[in-house]
Amino acid sequence: MSLGTAILNLLFPPKCPFCHVVLEDPEAGLCPDCQVSLPWLTGQAAERKIEFADGCYSPLAYRDRVREGVHHLKFHRCRASTAPFGMLMAQCARDHLTEKADAVTWTPLSRKRLRQRGFDQAELLARAVGKELGLPVVPTLEKFRNTQPQSSLTEAAQRRANARGAYRLRPGAQVSGQRLLLVDDVVTSGATLDECAYLLKQAGAQRVWCLTLAQAGHKGKNQEQRKN
Ligand SMILES: [Zn+2]
Repeated sequence: MSLGTAILNLLFPPKCPFCHVVLEDPEAGLCPDCQVSLPWLTGQAAERKIEFADGCYSPLAYRDRVREGVHHLKFHRCRASTAPFGMLMAQCARDHLTEKADAVTWTPLSRKRLRQRGFDQAELLARAVGKELGLPVVPTLEKFRNTQPQSSLTEAAQRRANARGAYRLRPGAQVSGQRLLLVDDVVTSGATLDECAYLLKQAGAQRVWCLTLAQAGHKGKNQEQRKN
């Protein structure tokens, strides 16, 4: 740990991004209690089928403290959460990917939403994942049609229709032959990731794997349940 980091840790002690207790071990990323009790997804449970992607992986189920952690990042601008979230996502990629990726990219917010929120949480997560995996982070897509928030739509078909035609490749984006990790915070119906993976494949990407912090609609198992 550098001196600068040590001083920052004293002034702003790192907290668990899920329950906000001060971490005894600042390098741990999350507290011992969350390590045991979070709804982890392992093996096949960590994977969600996305038509145009070569895999979609998430280390956690989207519920309880995980839901609160994501909410905190998005709506309370808790950017400090992105480093520990990125660590968990990078580990999930190491566990599940059978090939090496060339670069990390993300599903972008529209310009309007970016102005409202001030940051793009998927971009912050992509940058944290890229840092952990030692991969370049490249912007490849833009959202040019402002859609309804996916969270306001309950039906998968509505979400699919809402995402279709809302994204396009950024001018000058070089994805041909690339093996890309496409990052988002949460996968729900998968409609957004599917649309983005489709565009990247159309533009010649060799592989597109989706990677999110959490997967909705899955219960997950904490460490006690995993033993049974
Ligand atoms: Zn915690």
